[in-house]
Amino acid sequence: MTDIHFKLNTGAKIPALGLGTWQSPEGQVRAAVAHAIKVGYRHIDCAYVYGNENEVGEGIKEGLAAAGISRADLFITTKLWCTYHTRAEQNLDMSLKSLGLDYVDLYLMHWPVAMNPNGNHEKFPKLPDGSRDLVRDRSHVDTYKDMEKLVKTGKVKAIGVSNYSKKFLEELLPKVDTVPAVNQIENHPLLPQQDVVDFCKEKGTLVTAYSPLGSTGSPLFQDPHVIKLAEQKGVNPGTILLSYPIARGVVVIPKSVTPSRIEDNKKIVALSEDDLASLAEISKDGVTRYIYPEFGVDFGFPDKS
Ligand code: NDP
Repeated sequence: MTDIHFKLNTGAKIPALGLGTWQSPEGQVRAAVAHAIKVGYRHIDCAYVYGNENEVGEGIKEGLAAAGISRADLFITTKLWCTYHTRAEQNLDMSLKSLGLDYVDLYLMHWPVAMNPNGNHEKFPKLPDGSRDLVRDRSHVDTYKDMEKLVKTGKVKAIGVSNYSKKFLEELLPKVDTVPAVNQIENHPLLPQQDVVDFCKEKGTLVTAYSPLGSTGSPLFQDPHVIKLAEQKGVNPGTILLSYPIARGVVVIPKSVTPSRIEDNKKIVALSEDDLASLAEISKDGVTRYIYPEFGVDFGFPDKS
């Protein structure tokens, strides 16, 4: 079901299902992206820091040719990396060049924290004590204001944020002119983040669920609630996990470089309120956040303060 769409606050349509590309290795990601487009995906999630945008770009080109569609039929997201917070347009141009595109449909601030824009282009600059080299006096609000200017260049159709808690959104919104089109956050039944999902909905920001399968080595496939629903509906546990965000009005971007899984992951089923209530049970004894890079910053996530 790659034809389900949601609407951004810009009026543009976004496919509710996209292909993730983090940790998709060089040598495999081109084929994965091309295969995804060939079998019907129209949304690809990328990032400068993933270091594979060149190959993703090749996969896009190959996929467009194989599917007989044009660039305008795709929705491409990429993200501003932390070492480029003071040079957003430069980082965007680097991504566009690698991807072989004139524009992206959505440009996200990857994390609301700036790192040292070091001369030797380290993506994760560190201090001598091993901690991340942050620019603590650079506000994420100023970075977002620079991103707002990018819309006027035509090189991005919409802007948004990623890894924003309610606290960070509350800090951002009163100070900027553009409500983020999207907030991309970790989201699955072990981390529902209902407060952020509700707050974003109220403000007109669409949520995208990253690591919807629980990223690598996830126990979610073995969860009894997930298995029970999968058996009831005659589908794989993965289908339940990918249908969960969509039933909550949340975009989902599973990553796979395995052709059969890329195809399996297109299957989405309707989930009722009762189904969602049963999946809510999974986090009743506590949530699990899989992605929490060691920035040494309090991002305002209630489960990690
Ligand atoms: P996912 O939850 O998408 O899980 C990916 C893992 O699940 C891979 O190991 C993949 O293996 C495996 N997998 C995929 N489909 C299936 C299936 N049907 N059955 C069993 N295993 C499966 O994790 P990610 O962390 O990659 O998140 C998805 C995307 O979200 C990322 O790729 C990235 O684009 C984005 N993201 C954004 C972040 C941000 O800070 N904004 C942070 C993290 C992710 P294989 O590939 O070998 O098939």
